[in-house]
Amino acid sequence: MAKIYITRQIPDLAINLIKEQGHEVDVSQKDGALSREELIAALKAKPYDGVLCLLTDKIDGEVMDAVPTAKIFANYAVGFDNLNLADAKQRGVFLTNTPCTSMSNSVAEHALALMVSVGRKIVEADQFVRDGKFIGWAPMLFVTPDLVGRTLGIIGLGRIGSRLAYHGARGFDMKVTYYDVVANEKFEQEFGAVRKATIEEVLKEADYISLNVPLNDSTRGMMNKERLAMLKPSAILVNTSRGPVIDEAALVEVLKENKIAGAGLDVFEHEPALAPGLAQLPNVVLTPHIASATWETRNEMAKISASNIIAAMAGQTPPNLVQ
Ligand code: NAD
Repeated sequence: MAKIYITRQIPDLAINLIKEQGHEVDVSQKDGALSREELIAALKAKPYDGVLCLLTDKIDGEVMDAVPTAKIFANYAVGFDNLNLADAKQRGVFLTNTPCTSMSNSVAEHALALMVSVGRKIVEADQFVRDGKFIGWAPMLFVTPDLVGRTLGIIGLGRIGSRLAYHGARGFDMKVTYYDVVANEKFEQEFGAVRKATIEEVLKEADYISLNVPLNDSTRGMMNKERLAMLKPSAILVNTSRGPVIDEAALVEVLKENKIAGAGLDVFEHEPALAPGLAQLPNVVLTPHIASATWETRNEMAKISASNIIAAMAGQTPPNLVQ
């Protein structure tokens, strides 16, 4: 029987799947993310054999050394910028994530919802009605461009990016352009998507830009002041990837000066803090990192993270190793 620690309450499904294998499971009882000190103290409490962790837990060598018996840190997330791969490799510890179709569906749906909300001014219009300002139909009230026929530029055409591109191309007849370090020729043929040689080419042409890259050294600060200045005045920028991909203070400036039409953000550079001035802008829609928050995805994440733990405890290589 192995001992497993889970750093926060997640769906019971994961806990039950692990317990069904005869393992002992301890779950953090704190109503919130553990601080670094709390995490280290919790891991030192018992000789745990595996840890199921969240994207809010920074897992590096110091944390791994707090529980040297642990063979695996199974991340309950598809992004894994919170895990130190080099430290894990050095210690022979498995690191895993939770890629799945439902996750890609949920996040792409959310990105699309942000595109529609910002593009059609849904949140501003909602507030207008609630404020009692709606006194009757008016021909020039909240007039916006259609999404149909516009150009959707995807930065990072991976699992989520390609699902969003599918919705844009099939649902809204959008022209899809993309920039990715890897070409997706199958997708290009199927959906007429055009791969651009540089990110700048996508940014200069697109009406909607969606960021769908992982956070790593090549993408941190990718949307800096210079690149934000390349967007069209009518452009709408959507980010469901990770906050530090955008220089948020620079984004506030371009939004304030109406140099772009708007932004839809699910993630923030210094999450949960917002860049000064961001929340006061009318041309943004902000959501609290919930792009994957559907029942289907949360349950699938539970199953996948549990299966990675179970495989490692059985002496097997877990199915979703990150590298
Ligand atoms: P993925 O690995 O399938 O796709 C990422 C794509 O980005 C790949 O095609 C890759 O080649 C490309 N890429 C990597 N570096 C690049 C660079 N420098 N320039 C251009 N392209 C680059 O990942 P995914 O499953 O589509 O997820 C993408 C990211 O979305 C995750 O890493 C995670 O951080 C984020 N995410 C956020 C939420 C949320 O709740 N907001 C939920 C799930 C995932």
